[in-house]
Amino acid sequence: MRGAPRPYEPHTASAAAALYQPSAMETSPQDIGLIRVYHAHVYYDPATTRPDAAAVREQVCARFPVQAGRWHDVPVGPHTQAMYQLVFAPDTFSTLVPWLMLNRRGLDVLIHPDTGFPRRDHLVHGFWLGRQLPLRGERLPEQED
Ligand code: ZN
Repeated sequence: MRGAPRPYEPHTASAAAALYQPSAMETSPQDIGLIRVYHAHVYYDPATTRPDAAAVREQVCARFPVQAGRWHDVPVGPHTQAMYQLVFAPDTFSTLVPWLMLNRRGLDVLIHPDTGFPRRDHLVHGFWLGRQLPLRGERLPEQED
């Protein structure tokens, strides 16, 4: 709502970094076997880049074993722009991610592991293709139930 005080501020990269000082993080290496699946969140603007998002989605689904999630034309959860998510197994990472690097049509994409700790997985362990968008990390549980 315009003019209304925001109930929260989107987390920026620096805010995420402040939340996760090294002292607060695991100090011993974590096994990559903790990564159950990966998410690729593909962001778009419903008014302008939805066709690009549709093309990327169709092309990805034709080439890779992914679970394509619902279209969210309105921001949902921690996300501050319209997006859909692609869920894929670790053994798909090495082909799908490079493919997205070359074929994301200028869309911004967040790729992150799912280790059962949604806040950390989205804010700290992921990386971006394109621009890094703000995330409302406080909307993510620290740990899954
Ligand atoms: Zn996700």
